[in-house]
Amino acid sequence: MNSFAFLEKSARHRPEELALVQGSERLTYRQFRDRALAVGGNLIAMGCQPGDRVAFCLANSPRIMEVIFGCFAAGLIVVPVNARLHAREMAYIVENSGAKVLIHGAEFQEGIEANTALFSGVERFCLDEVSGAQPYDTLLDPENALDAAVEAAPEDLCWLFYTSGTTGKPKGAIWNHRMVRCVIMNYLADLHNIQPGEVVLHCAPMSHGSGIVALPAVARGAVNAITDTASFEIDSLLETVERLKVSHIAFMAPTQIVKLLEDHVPGRHDISSLQAICYGGAPIYVEQLKQAMKTFGPVFVQLYGQGEAPITITGMSAAAHQHLLETNDPRIGSAGQVRTDVEAHCVDQDDNPLPPGEAGEVVARGDVVMPGYWNNPEASEDALRGGWLHTGDIGYFDDRGYLFLLDRAKDMVISGGNNVYPREVEEVIILHPKVSNCVVFGIPDAYWGEAVHAVVVPADGEALGAQDIIDFCGEHMAGYKKPKAVDFVDALPVSGYGKILRREVREKYWEGHSSKIGGGGSSGSGGDAAGSGKAQPA
Ligand code: AMP
Repeated sequence: MNSFAFLEKSARHRPEELALVQGSERLTYRQFRDRALAVGGNLIAMGCQPGDRVAFCLANSPRIMEVIFGCFAAGLIVVPVNARLHAREMAYIVENSGAKVLIHGAEFQEGIEANTALFSGVERFCLDEVSGAQPYDTLLDPENALDAAVEAAPEDLCWLFYTSGTTGKPKGAIWNHRMVRCVIMNYLADLHNIQPGEVVLHCAPMSHGSGIVALPAVARGAVNAITDTASFEIDSLLETVERLKVSHIAFMAPTQIVKLLEDHVPGRHDISSLQAICYGGAPIYVEQLKQAMKTFGPVFVQLYGQGEAPITITGMSAAAHQHLLETNDPRIGSAGQVRTDVEAHCVDQDDNPLPPGEAGEVVARGDVVMPGYWNNPEASEDALRGGWLHTGDIGYFDDRGYLFLLDRAKDMVISGGNNVYPREVEEVIILHPKVSNCVVFGIPDAYWGEAVHAVVVPADGEALGAQDIIDFCGEHMAGYKKPKAVDFVDALPVSGYGKILRREVREKYWEGHSSKIGGGGSSGSGGDAAGSGKAQPA
C-alpha cells in the first residue's frame, strides 16, 4: 500500500474538514490532497522518476506536508533536511542522497549562493522568487497533477531519514512504506489514539519527530496546526493552544519541556484542551519530568526510538506516566515498555541477550526497523548484524520490561576500570536546588584513564562551587561516579533538534588526546562495544 492512501482516505472521509493550519492559511483535506497530487505530478513532469530523491529544507509549514505526501503519491523518496543546518551540511545530505530536487525556503538562498558549486547538480525550487531556483508554485500547476497515487509495494523506499550526526557525518536511514504504515499504526495503538478533528500542534522541526507524528494525525483526519517556529516562544505557544483548543502537541524535545516549565505563567492561558504532549529524542531528567507533570497534569507521552526505528521502540503513554507518578514508582524514569509489535532486549559485547537488570546495548527487531542505510552497506551490516538493529544506546530492562536508558555506548565513561553512565550522574546533579542544567562526560586523566567531569549551568542568580556539586553527588551515589572536577557555564549548546550537545562541550577537554568518540555520529549503531554490568534505576 502506498502511504499516500492514508491521506486519500482522510480526504474522502473528511473533504471539507481542516487538515493544515498555519497563521491565516487554512487547507481542508481535499485541498491538501489535491496540492500533494499536484506536487507529485509536477515533479514527474519535470523529469523525476519513481525512486528519485527529493530533498526539502523548509521551516515548518504546510508545504512540508504537501511535499512529503506529493513524493509518496509519485513514488519518489523524500529527504527531509533539518532547517537549522549550515548550507554545507545541507549540501552533504543532498549529495549523499543523490537528490535530484531540493525544495527550500528563501532564507537558505544566501548560504546556497555562498556554496554554489555544492548545489550545482540539483534542481532547486524555492518558496519565494530567488535566482537559480524555480518558484515553488510551479509545482502546484494543476495541469500536471496526478489523478491518483502510483502503486507501491510495502518494501518500496519512500523516505531517507538522516541521523543527527552531531560529530560524524549523518547517515541516511532508509524507510519504506511498510515502516511508515507501522509508525502510523503503532503510534495510534500504543502512544496516543488521535481522533478525527483533534487539533495536533507542531512546534518542533517537522523534518524530525513532529513531522513523523503528523503521519498518524493525517491518517486519522486530525487538524495539523503549525506554529511559526522561527523562535520557540512559550507564551505564544500556550496562546495558540488556548486559541485553537489544541489537544495534542505532536513532539517536544526535553529541552523544550524544560523551557515550558521555566517560562510558562500559571493561569495566563486556558490550556485545559491539552491531552497529550509527546516527547523524546533525548533523555529528560526524572526530576524535571515530575515537575512538568505536577504543573501540566497527566499529559506527557514518551517515545524512545531513532531514525533507524521510527518513531518508537519503547513508549510510555500518558496514563502510564500518571500511574507511575502516583505510585511513586522509579519506573517513571524509564523509557517505558517495548511497543506492541516490536521486539527489543539488551545484549552484551558478543551480542548475547542479557537478563533483566543487566546493562548492555539495546537491540530491536520488527517492521519498524529500517532495512539499512542509504549507500552504506558496511554501516548497514554492522547496525543490523544478526537481524537486530543495534541502537548504540546502553540500557537495561527491568523484570517488568521497562527500559532504563543509560547512555549512548560512546558516551560511557570508564574511570579506574568502572563504567560510569553520564546520565546517572546528571540525574543527581539536576536535583541540586541551585542547578538549572548540566552535562557530564569523561575527560582524559593520567591516573583514572578517564575522569568524570561535570559542566553545570547554575539556576538564575545562584552561585555555587565545584565542591558543592561533588559533595552533593557524594550524598547520592558511589564515590567512583562523583565528578572529579566541575566547570560552570551560562548555557549549554543544543542541536537543531533540541538535544544537548554533550560531545561539543567535551571536545575541548580532549584536544591533543585521542578520544574514543572521535568520529561517531549521535545516532546509529556505535562501533564501540556495549558496556555491561549491573545498573540500578535512576
Ligand atoms: P534521532 O535518530 O536523531 O531521533 O536520535 C535517536 C537517539 O536519541 C536514540 O538513539 C537515543 O540515543 C536518543 N533518544 C531518543 N528517544 C529517547 C528517549 N525517550 N530517552 C532518551 N534518549 C532518547
